[in-house]
Amino acid sequence: MIISPRPGGGDPAGGSEMNDCIFCKIIAGKIPAKIVYEDEVAFSFEDINPQAPVHILVIPKKHIATVLDLNEGDHELLGHLFAVANNIARDKGIAARGFRIVTNCNPESGQTVYHIHFHLLGGRHMHWPPG
Ligand code: 5GP
Ligand code: ZN
Repeated sequence: MIISPRPGGGDPAGGSEMNDCIFCKIIAGKIPAKIVYEDEVAFSFEDINPQAPVHILVIPKKHIATVLDLNEGDHELLGHLFAVANNIARDKGIAARGFRIVTNCNPESGQTVYHIHFHLLGGRHMHWPPG
């Protein structure tokens, strides 16, 4: 998948906006966010409640509720989201130090927004096991 950054934004590609989804509203520009990166299929912005010095969310523009809703047609998209997260980690200077990519799924994991997202966390020492 060859993706060119499109800082100017535009309509979400590859999926329709879900009216009640906060992340779809952020993608559509209806809710403000500190945008980190955007291209045709991916979107990234700073988490409103950061849990680390770097806490950035990387999401597909296509609305997918949980990782359980992914299908084979999304495999390339997922690889692209990892590439986006890696590039942001490098840009933010946390790649060599180390960072964490987290995706929560369903209530016991702590998922609160049902539009899949990678949390990109870094800039401090991470603990294991997670809480
Ligand atoms: P989850 O709990 O679903 O894994 O992660 C959802 C994340 O979205 C949380 O870290 C939360 O702080 C973030 N979040 C929720 N609402 C907003 C919002 O309106 N703007 C931004 N930038 N982040 C949000
Ligand atoms: Zn959505």
